[in-house]
Amino acid sequence: MRKIDLVIKNGIIITQDPLDTIMYKGGIAVHESKIIEINDTEKIAATYRGSREIDASGMAILPGFVNTHFHFSQNFMKGTQDNLNFLDWIDKISFPRIKVAIDGYRKGLPDINMLSALHAGIDLLSSGITCTTNMDWGIAPSILEIYKKLGLRVTNILTFTDIDTWTPKEAIIEESELFTLASEFIQACADDDRTEFAYGIACANSCSEKMIRKVRKHATEHKKRIHLHLAESQYEYEHFRKEKKMSSTQYLEEAGLWDSDVWVAHGIWLDDNDIDILAQYQVGVAHTPKCNMKIACGVTPVVKMLEKGVDVGLGIDSCAVSDNTDYFEAMRAMLFLQRITNMDANIIHAEDALKMATIGGAKILGRDHEIGSLEKGKQADMVFINLNDLNLRPYNKLINNLVYAANSSNIARVMIGGETVVEKGKFTRFDKDAIIDSTEQKIAGIYRKAGIELPDYFMIRDYFQ
Ligand SMILES: [Zn+2]
Repeated sequence: MRKIDLVIKNGIIITQDPLDTIMYKGGIAVHESKIIEINDTEKIAATYRGSREIDASGMAILPGFVNTHFHFSQNFMKGTQDNLNFLDWIDKISFPRIKVAIDGYRKGLPDINMLSALHAGIDLLSSGITCTTNMDWGIAPSILEIYKKLGLRVTNILTFTDIDTWTPKEAIIEESELFTLASEFIQACADDDRTEFAYGIACANSCSEKMIRKVRKHATEHKKRIHLHLAESQYEYEHFRKEKKMSSTQYLEEAGLWDSDVWVAHGIWLDDNDIDILAQYQVGVAHTPKCNMKIACGVTPVVKMLEKGVDVGLGIDSCAVSDNTDYFEAMRAMLFLQRITNMDANIIHAEDALKMATIGGAKILGRDHEIGSLEKGKQADMVFINLNDLNLRPYNKLINNLVYAANSSNIARVMIGGETVVEKGKFTRFDKDAIIDSTEQKIAGIYRKAGIELPDYFMIRDYFQ
């Protein structure tokens, strides 16, 4: 018998490996944060003895979900006005808050980003998201302390922007300062096996060509990935047709941006030629269906992208525009949106949604060598689903039941690197409720001081006291 860190027995293991293997009454052997074997429970039990053993009877075990596009700093914006179109929303909701965050950053007080990361991190982990992106403005490497506290895997994206078409001038951070900050992040991430750094371009019309080329050069030099919002709005589409007589995708090709280390969010306003460009350069797409529907941006041609060989992952975008982090809801939104748009119920399946939420996402973040599926040698990042819950029963087809009927409340356990971070809604590393209360209290103080109006019940616990 080999003595190892952890043995999991009797689960239904949905591996998401290249053969889509599902192990019924399966066992998983975990040592030093990694999966060392997946097999029948009997074989695992006969070979290994774990310092910890988990009986996963009645549970499905999925790879941890991968959130490929997200802004932590918008986590305090749940439920912000519902009746604004995209540009008005940016003007009235998003940028006043970004401005406060950047003002804080300039004063050496990156409080908003730190508080948001805690609040959002708890949301994400509760939804079984074990690896997320965080695309933000004016973040300092001190945010890594929060990621470490949470135990979350993060690809941290520092956003570059230098044209004030959309961004108010006062919110623009100097180019040289951004590159210095990027270097500091790269250094900080070098000693952190869970956090990766990526360069961010806000979008094609908020960065000069000079800056886009410079970001590309730095990313290549430092072997880091690049992320950007692409073709999210009709505005971007029309702006490039009018100003450059080409699409934003073509423009970025001419600016030399595209390569297989780039992934984009949205990709809504694309024509066939644009999708061919993304496929040609192996650019991944982070699809955020709930956000796109809520603020009426349009429909990402996901089916066409998959047909042309473009890798697609899922994303929440932010709680300002998706309002919750439930990944099952995101999977359903993707499926329903593609089906109704194509008027074809057979055009995309539950299995495709689960792939996008796991291995598809890991692939576009360049992290599929370590996460995204349950396979020997990969990190033990897993989500345990309680199959006994009524909303899931009875079972006619397991994957369908999960994708169409499950929600975050069915999550019994979340594990990252073999460590249980959430069990039955309780966080093992810290007092969840205390952190939620204190972060909300602090943010309310900061926003009100900056003149942002909040309702009396913003901090609900105080309101009822
Ligand atoms: Zn976004």
